[in-house]
Amino acid sequence: MQRVAILGSTGSIGVSTLNVISRHPHRFEVFALTAHTRVQELACQCLEFNPRYAVVPTTEAAVDLRARVGGHTQVLCGDEALLTVAAHPDVDTVMAAIVGAAGLPSALAAARAGKRLLLANKEALVMAGGVFMAAVAESGATLLPIDSEHNAIFQCLPAGYGNPANAGVRRLLLSASGGPFRTVPLADLGSVTPDQACAHPNWRMGRKISVDSATMMNKGLELIEACWLFDVSPQVVDIVIHPQSIVHSLVEYCDGSVLAQLGNPDMRTPIAHALGWPERLESGVSSLDLVKVASLHFEAPDPTRFPSLALARAACELGGDAPTALNAANEEAVAAFLAGGIRFTHIIEIVDAVMQRWQCSEPLNLDAVQAADADARRLARRLLSRDSE
Ligand code: NAD
Ligand code: MG
Repeated sequence: MQRVAILGSTGSIGVSTLNVISRHPHRFEVFALTAHTRVQELACQCLEFNPRYAVVPTTEAAVDLRARVGGHTQVLCGDEALLTVAAHPDVDTVMAAIVGAAGLPSALAAARAGKRLLLANKEALVMAGGVFMAAVAESGATLLPIDSEHNAIFQCLPAGYGNPANAGVRRLLLSASGGPFRTVPLADLGSVTPDQACAHPNWRMGRKISVDSATMMNKGLELIEACWLFDVSPQVVDIVIHPQSIVHSLVEYCDGSVLAQLGNPDMRTPIAHALGWPERLESGVSSLDLVKVASLHFEAPDPTRFPSLALARAACELGGDAPTALNAANEEAVAAFLAGGIRFTHIIEIVDAVMQRWQCSEPLNLDAVQAADADARRLARRLLSRDSE
């Protein structure tokens, strides 16, 4: 029996994780669930899965949740409680599915505690890759990627090789759908709405990652994520647009072989893969009908339409806290766009402006990462308020 803590259980990944777990009641026990604002959804999950702990951000939310769930589940509140459940000695597996920088401390706590860590929160690696991977190495945590591209690459790499170069890997190919605006006339991008940006053609996801997919900053963040996860330089990672989201990513070897992982676009596949690994688990995902798919389409990303890719690659090559700043500026700009404060095209302009002003340094610990994150956010907010005057 694996005891699982799901950080961010009310989100898109959290709900898919519970769906897979519910198919294997003799294999998994839900130990802790956490949520930010959706207390009512969290209460329903607690009543169904009966976790030992549930975590909410405030005392008011805790009072509300206790009234809804009754006695069995202990309700905790605050950031410290997230760390407590992430590193709890009775937890085997942690699903890190909080969105954004808010997910870093708890994901890192699970890494430091040597857990089997299912990482959906890519921002943690983008912000703090060096600190994070050092914690994983030191504690012996098992880090399994949930991001569908990285999970695909993990599946296409031979098991047991530390560095892919030793396995004869020539290239990692991240596939990208191109999001909802791949073919929208460039002149129209300035007037698209948050709801249009969040209407992803293939995936139902939270709003932040949906906007990232529309700008393709998501793929930029994933490039950085891939470099940390697989210990490769950014030159080894290429991005190819594949609008159908059937081929989830590929690995090319030095003999010319290219291995790909395919499947219907449903996050329950990578989640089940990581929950069961090295065994395979039934996930509820339907069979891929290749005859219906008929042909697979690929194209190169257009750098004019998607300037985020060059920005993220440059930050990755610079290293240090450049990706931290990139992520912070992006989170601020996306939040401003979702709140109706700026145009869609302004998101990447803000990130670019922050990166142009950024003085890079090497963050050696969580405090330094968080200080760089706060500095980049202040800079982004200054630029955002100046532009809205
Ligand atoms: P979501 O917005 O649907 O859910 C986010 C979860 O985090 C919710 O449970 C919410 O309550 C919690 N949360 C939000 N802010 C918080 C805070 N400040 N403190 C504590 N908890 C907080 O997001 P999602 O789409 O499920 O994405 C989660 C993570 O997984 C992101 O990092 C995203 O990039 C990554 N991811 C998602 C998908 C997908 O298909 N949804 C695919 C790949 C990677
Ligand atoms: Mg992805």
